[in-house]
Amino acid sequence: MTSIYVTRKIPQAGLSPLQDKDYEIDINPEDRPLTSKELLTALRAKPYDGILSLLTDHIDAAVFEAAPSVKVVSNYAVGYNNIDLVEAERRGVVVANTPGASTSAVAEYTVALILALTHKLIDADQFVRDGKYKGWDPALFMGTELSGKTLGLLGAGRIGSSAATALAKGLGMKVEYYDVVRNESLEKEIGAVFRSSVEEVLKEADVVSIHVPLLPTTRHLLNAEHFAMMKPTAILINTSRGPVIDEAALAEALSRGAIAGAALDVFENEPAVTPALLTLPNVILTPHIASATDVARNTMAIMAAQNLIEFFEGREVKNMVRS
Ligand code: NAD
Repeated sequence: MTSIYVTRKIPQAGLSPLQDKDYEIDINPEDRPLTSKELLTALRAKPYDGILSLLTDHIDAAVFEAAPSVKVVSNYAVGYNNIDLVEAERRGVVVANTPGASTSAVAEYTVALILALTHKLIDADQFVRDGKYKGWDPALFMGTELSGKTLGLLGAGRIGSSAATALAKGLGMKVEYYDVVRNESLEKEIGAVFRSSVEEVLKEADVVSIHVPLLPTTRHLLNAEHFAMMKPTAILINTSRGPVIDEAALAEALSRGAIAGAALDVFENEPAVTPALLTLPNVILTPHIASATDVARNTMAIMAAQNLIEFFEGREVKNMVRS
């Protein structure tokens, strides 16, 4: 019988297809990620054929060593930087992800973060809760408008282009983007302008939004030098992966006013947050929830299950990823 270890409870929409196939499914009973040690112990319990993992699990050589019978790992996420792909390939283990499942959720969340920052929603809400609202004031929480401003997009894939389209068509923003692959359909659809470097985009942008995967080439894609070349009025949004930004350098840039604000859903060493960020007023910090909608999470679960079923039925695994 095919047996699968699920590293944390996912929506039933993803468990049912596996149960319907009569696969044997063991789920981490804890309502938290397993430590690396606990994961190895759990995997040694049985000769599992597959793993359904989360982005919080480090699927590395030690895991493959502890579970030599595992032939496939299906990650409940579009990002797969938590998996050592080179090691998986060396051992002939297939790895798959859930591309597209959370595109709308993360694009909408990106727009929400931008609007929350430009209209000071979080601080204004706190102001009212603190009993400080004493009457209408013409200068209270002055924000900025997005119409006619420039969005600088780093990464114009599924999520980046969806967010850019919403901001261009819905709110009248101009879009400039950098990507290692040119997105001609985005250029055609919203008049997005391709720039051949990160630096060119940063110099022009009023809002910078990051949507690249975490790769060796994108680690610290933005560092102190980059923050220094941004407009002092610009804001930075990161819903991709924390290590894409040098977080300490960002905290420093924000505190000396090199840029006007930032909204981060992901952190370099999450769940830890660079302490200086916690004390800054011009920053919104959220706990990696950009894809936390019922539609996205159910779709991710169904796709993660589908990847395993395709593999065990000997079909092409459509969402297979390679190093
Ligand atoms: P995608 O593959 O469709 O788009 C990524 C884009 O980045 C591609 O166009 C690619 O060419 C580009 N890119 C790759 N390397 C680059 C580089 N060095 N410089 C510039 N561009 C580069 O992926 P997607 O579905 O849009 O997702 C993007 C990322 O968002 C995921 O990899 C994941 O890490 C992150 N994500 C976060 C959440 C969240 O909850 N915060 C949810 C889903 C996805």
